[in-house]
Amino acid sequence: MKVLAVGAHPDDLEIGCGGTLVRMKQQGHEIAMCVMTNGDLGHKVIPREELAQIRETEARASAAQLEAEFFMMGYSDFSVPDSEEPIARLTEVIRQVQPDFIITHPQDDYMREHSRVGELVFEASFRATVPHLYQHLTPTEEVVPVYQMESFGGVGFVPEHYVDISATLQRKLSMLREHRSQVEWLLEHDKVDVCEMVTSLARCRGIQCGVQYAEGFRERRAYLRGRPARLLP
Ligand SMILES: [Zn+2]
Repeated sequence: MKVLAVGAHPDDLEIGCGGTLVRMKQQGHEIAMCVMTNGDLGHKVIPREELAQIRETEARASAAQLEAEFFMMGYSDFSVPDSEEPIARLTEVIRQVQPDFIITHPQDDYMREHSRVGELVFEASFRATVPHLYQHLTPTEEVVPVYQMESFGGVGFVPEHYVDISATLQRKLSMLREHRSQVEWLLEHDKVDVCEMVTSLARCRGIQCGVQYAEGFRERRAYLRGRPARLLP
């Protein structure tokens, strides 16, 4: 199988579904990661342009740990437009990757950019099947199922599916630590040790499903999106 994970900011995928992506990689599946913004507002001191470069380098280092195909859209933070343009670009990525399923943000996350990206991905994944749109790339055969990773901190998120990440939590944290500038920012701005937050949430989800550590997911339920088999590991 092939999974495409789409996050708003450079570290969102590691936080939300890193353990699951590592598991899928270990099981021999192919991973593609797509990040919408360059993360250029996530620091107190480093200037925006310099920070954008640092965060791209960090995100690429993390994706390299998974040997994942990596896409960076390069919008500034808080600047992903609610328009046709990002939908067209996401449609192209989906057609290029031809994923069996997609993981992205829930529609009700703590920040509009997360929620918006979740919506844009959902729309693009339908358009990817329409042959007359963006004709230079092969349409996907079927409307791709979309799974939602947890909202930030798990707030208000009730998982429908759990993935056991007991064996991959350390790799998830190792990928997350590649985002050094962001780990610093979250400590300064949010007063949160993000590695500790991620570990605590994974333990909480693990307790809910009877394993050491887990990640939680919901399915975006809609016409043509269902499948008769489980796609997550
Ligand atoms: Zn984010």
